[in-house]
Order: sequence, then structure tokens, then C-alpha cells
Amino acid sequence: MYAILDGMTARTHDLAAITALGIVVLANPLPQVTLGTALVAILANQIGGIAPDLDQPTAPFWRNLPSGHVFGRIFGKLLGGHRFISHSIIGLALFGFVVHWLLLFLHPIMPHVNIGLVWWAFFIGMASHLVMDTLTKEGVPWLLPIPIKFGVPPIKRFRITTGKSGEMFVVFPLLLLVDIWLCAHNYDTIVNYLHQHLAR
Ligand SMILES: [Zn+2]
Repeated sequence: MYAILDGMTARTHDLAAITALGIVVLANPLPQVTLGTALVAILANQIGGIAPDLDQPTAPFWRNLPSGHVFGRIFGKLLGGHRFISHSIIGLALFGFVVHWLLLFLHPIMPHVNIGLVWWAFFIGMASHLVMDTLTKEGVPWLLPIPIKFGVPPIKRFRITTGKSGEMFVVFPLLLLVDIWLCAHNYDTIVNYLHQHLAR
């Protein structure tokens, strides 16, 4: 089961992250990538898609960890509480820096993985999270330390409430439709790519 977070459900964030990655990859044909890079990049993208919500102890990541809620609470405090640093441009830079450092550290055990591409996949996932949360009632403090929460549309009443019909029956299906359209529209490109560019 996916937890309902106060922004969007983790399931919606997962789908948004992979959709964003698909759009970017299809718009910018990549050089040859190894299968390892592709798999690690997809994993990093999905982690990026839920990373900002590590600021709440109820996040799936913390719930799946032994005593995770304790760590979640500490981590949440460090990030200044929910929908704070990790939901801003400063947070993007901060997480980007930490992930860059982590990937450099991990590179020796996965030498065939292009860590630059993995980093971008993470970043795209994380950015997609902030964009999706911007559609919710609470908004996102993009420009911290300026304490203003931005939302689209600007009138709160028209924004989405988490887990309610707007998300379940509009946002999630819309994302699915975008994915189906992307796959159908780029079918030949995708098949060619898998045949010719995915290397060992
Ligand atoms: Zn969030």
C-alpha cells in the first residue's frame, strides 16, 4: 500500500517522476548507455521522486525502515519540518550535492554506470515532485528563505487535495495518458533505441 502523504500520494509521485524522465530522455536522445546505467538511473529517478517527503516521518521510506519513524522525525526536524527546505530550490541544490557526493563514493563498485546520467535522473525525479506538489492546496515554498508558498493555479480552491478524487481520478489518469501517448508516439524511437543503443 502506498502511504498518503500530505502532498500527493507516493504512487502519483512515482508515476510523475518516471513520466518526467521519459519526456526529457525522448526530447534529448542520449548517447549509448549501459543497461546498468539505465537501471540505476530509473531507481535514482524513483528515489528522487519521493526524496522531498523524507521530511515527514510517515513517508514510505521511513515506515519501511526499522525504527524508521524515529529517524524520520529527526531528519524532518533537520530539514525544518514538512514542506520546508526539501521542497525548495535550495533543497534541490542540497539534495543534488549530497547525491553527487554519494554517487562518487559508490562509483568504484559500479564502474560501468554513468553516474552523471544517474544524477540527472535523480534530479528530474526530485524536480517533478516539487512541480506536482505545487498543484496541491498547500503549495510549495520554492524560493526559501522567502517564506511564500507557491501554487498552481494561484487560487487555492482550484488546486488538488491529496488522495481526493482530483488526484485519484484526474492527475493520476492524466499522467498515465501522457505515458501511453509518449510510448505510442515514440514507439519506433524507443524500439530502435533498445535495439541499438543499450549496451552491455
Ligand atoms: Zn512533497
